[in-house]
Amino acid sequence: MGLSKLIALVVLLDLLSSARVARSEFDDAVGFLQRAKEPDFFDWMVGVRRRIHENPELGYEEHETSKLIRKELDALKISYRHPVAVTGVVGYIGTGKPPFVALRADMDALAMQEEVEWEHKSKAPGKMHACGHDAHIAMLLGAAKILQEHRDDLQGTVVLVFQPAEEGGGGAKKMIEAGVVENVDAIFGFHIATDTPIGVVESRAGPIMAGSGFFEAVISGKGGHAAIPQHTIDPILAASNVIVSLQHLVSREADPLDSQVVTVAKFQGGGAFNVIPDSVSIGGTFRAFSKDSFFQLKQRIEEVIIAQASVQRCSATVDFLDKDHPFFPVTVNSKVLHRHFEKVAAEILGASNVGDRKPVMGSEDFSFFSEVIPASFYYFVGTMNETQGPMHPPHSPFFRINEEALPYGAALHASLAAKYLSENHALSSPMKNIRDEL
Ligand SMILES: [Zn+2]
Ligand SMILES: [Zn+2]
Repeated sequence: MGLSKLIALVVLLDLLSSARVARSEFDDAVGFLQRAKEPDFFDWMVGVRRRIHENPELGYEEHETSKLIRKELDALKISYRHPVAVTGVVGYIGTGKPPFVALRADMDALAMQEEVEWEHKSKAPGKMHACGHDAHIAMLLGAAKILQEHRDDLQGTVVLVFQPAEEGGGGAKKMIEAGVVENVDAIFGFHIATDTPIGVVESRAGPIMAGSGFFEAVISGKGGHAAIPQHTIDPILAASNVIVSLQHLVSREADPLDSQVVTVAKFQGGGAFNVIPDSVSIGGTFRAFSKDSFFQLKQRIEEVIIAQASVQRCSATVDFLDKDHPFFPVTVNSKVLHRHFEKVAAEILGASNVGDRKPVMGSEDFSFFSEVIPASFYYFVGTMNETQGPMHPPHSPFFRINEEALPYGAALHASLAAKYLSENHALSSPMKNIRDEL
């Protein structure tokens, strides 16, 4: 072989191998994880997370957080819609055409004081990112960066959903009302898990988190001298019996195989040792794993409170507070997307690091998305590192994030979306509207 032929062959082989690398980076999700673990990439995500952690903002007040997200999207040259649902941001990557796959992160902090002493401790007294939503934002921005680097390979559009007010404010519901997921074919959401090792992800098909609601009741009688009860109608005794009766709803009326919870967490009444008060207020939460069970429980809570109060000659009013705290639906994972998740996560992490997650009675407002998009999926990203000792659970003032987990969430979110598009672009209806935001 002549020298020129040899050089041509070497050049050809080189071209072929670089084409293969470029292709395999997209096809092989491991490439996404390697990218997210590169020092510059990792440090950028950590920086984003720490800046958000220092300035926690409550539901619908995430103005600075929203600004930070938009600045990062600008730097990545990703177009977006803002404001959506007050502080929400919705970014778009890809062709601008169907199919549309959404990735969601929540943005809000909690009204509590951080007790962890470290360099990036919350600078806002009484506010703390104690549920890891700061990490969720950094992970979704990480996924956005990866996807933007591969935008020419995307066979559809990724919709980046940064939503406000997950912690009880129903931010997801407001995002849906703003039209964010119209035409979206599938949506993925995640949460960091402090009870799962780093490098492990978990989920399940079907219901994974409960539907939830709150209730508050005022039980009214007639106050008076505590030593002369016959001249009073005692609401404390009535409320006590109401609480005991409420406990029988789950133990005697619910199917033991259909998990439900009724908890009275608030009892306020009286202010003196020797005075029976006029009224008492109680409140709590109820949870169930199906819509039918949930609304059956709601109806029976109201009936029991009113009827049981009347046994002790009291009247009662019941408020489910759903104007300010909308009922959270059950979070239900699509079976098809569960198979997709298992396959994609196993490619990145190995099949032994993709686990089953037991359902819990906690709730998540991602469920609003799962109610309107049948192809919805919620999963957990492990953050536990046993060498660092036990981790405090979310909503603890001592809650800490293991930042080593950020690349896992970023790479998996990006892979789930990219692969969903490549596997579903042929199935998507050409009749669907094309996004005009791009
Ligand atoms: Zn939370
Ligand atoms: Zn949370």
